[in-house]
Amino acid sequence: MIWNSSKECMSREQMRELQGKRLNKLVNLVYHNVPFYREKLQALDISPDDIQTIDDIVKLPFTTKQDLRDNYPYGLMSAPKSDIVRVHASSGTTGNPTIVGYTRRDLSIWSEVMSRSLAAFGVTRDDTFSVSYGYGLFTGGLGAHYGVENLGATVIPASTGNTEKHIKLIRDLDITGIACTPSYALYLAETLDKMGVDKKDIKLRVGAFGAEPWTNNMRKEIEERLGLKGYNLYGLSEIIGPGVSYECQEQNGSHISEDHFYPEIIDPDTLEPIADGETGELVFTTLTKTGMPLIRYRTKDLCTLSHETCSCGRTNVKMGPIMGRSDDMLIVRGINVFPSQVESVILEIPELEPQYMLVLDRKNNLDTLQIQVEVRKDYFSDDLGSMLQMKKVLGDRLKNVLSISADIRLMEPNSIPRSEGKSKHVIDNRILK
Ligand code: ADP
Ligand code: ZN
Repeated sequence: MIWNSSKECMSREQMRELQGKRLNKLVNLVYHNVPFYREKLQALDISPDDIQTIDDIVKLPFTTKQDLRDNYPYGLMSAPKSDIVRVHASSGTTGNPTIVGYTRRDLSIWSEVMSRSLAAFGVTRDDTFSVSYGYGLFTGGLGAHYGVENLGATVIPASTGNTEKHIKLIRDLDITGIACTPSYALYLAETLDKMGVDKKDIKLRVGAFGAEPWTNNMRKEIEERLGLKGYNLYGLSEIIGPGVSYECQEQNGSHISEDHFYPEIIDPDTLEPIADGETGELVFTTLTKTGMPLIRYRTKDLCTLSHETCSCGRTNVKMGPIMGRSDDMLIVRGINVFPSQVESVILEIPELEPQYMLVLDRKNNLDTLQIQVEVRKDYFSDDLGSMLQMKKVLGDRLKNVLSISADIRLMEPNSIPRSEGKSKHVIDNRILK
């Protein structure tokens, strides 16, 4: 079902006109309310009047995650604090987290785009839908939650964890839909097996999977083991959260709600626009947000765009699957991890050498993170007590910074292979089959 056909099936011409109008309004809004943007535009000698059509967007400067950190916490908000009714934060960051603020209007846009997504997956008012993304500062839980409610299905705010109890609810409440990470879906399947529950005993029929990269092979496995149909749901907190784009029944790309989030693909090195079908970095401008709108935000996600017509009837542009990142961000159990965060912690501990390796794996469908780090020659010893103490200090600090626990391995001096040229700090054994 198409939730909002007037927007999802708009002609290209009308869409471009709408986007141009909204962009002009947005530039006016930030120019007059956000000193950061005003200064940037003045430095480029651009006034809001110079931005009239959507094609003028290329005149505008890019925004990065670093800009969000530098303006922590409220520096990029374009609404007065009294109009901000919700704040979320992105996972796993060094120093200041990236904070996003929403006005009441932003929240209703979010529910709207989430409803479009769920409707495209075939969810209806008759569904009972479990939201098994984490609730809290992370945007997944509450974002999906209000989308389900807005669509009119019954929401079960299961969140993550306590999987056996969750399975009992799935069975007893006749839950038909679930939103979670694809890896959690696989974990759910495993727990189902362990509990001896047959997929015929449950009524799950549709899954909204996202927040991390996944493949068609993972899709097949999840579908087969849970007896449902799985759809891709993409989003990021800086832009709004889940619901930025979603698959339709055709399942060869995810439609972007481009009346709200204008996408571009650029070459991450030259920052020049890239043609449809070619892989580059995805950039979004939030055309309608009023809490913390962003202009040309560099997501660092690598993918393609396609404006080809879709058999579902929607005309909104589609993005291909995320092929990787133009930075070194890793996603471990749904949490963003940067190797540089690990490095900064290691550098604070004098007994350790800044030689380290992050080894990622997937056991029982859950990501594991092992961090190997060398102890300096003068400190390396057979004294178990002092080694354990060092390990504990490192483990505690890492847990604090990364928000997830890692298996720490203290290594002998010179045991981690050195590489010539660009040093390698990550071994990712998680095969996305
Ligand atoms: P959120 O809090 O919404 O997960 P984050 O900012 O923590 O947002 O993480 C967003 C990032 O997660 C995206 O930039 C992308 O790298 C990844 N991501 C989200 N959804 C998907 C998806 N469906 N497929 C691949 N990667 C995804
Ligand atoms: Zn479609």
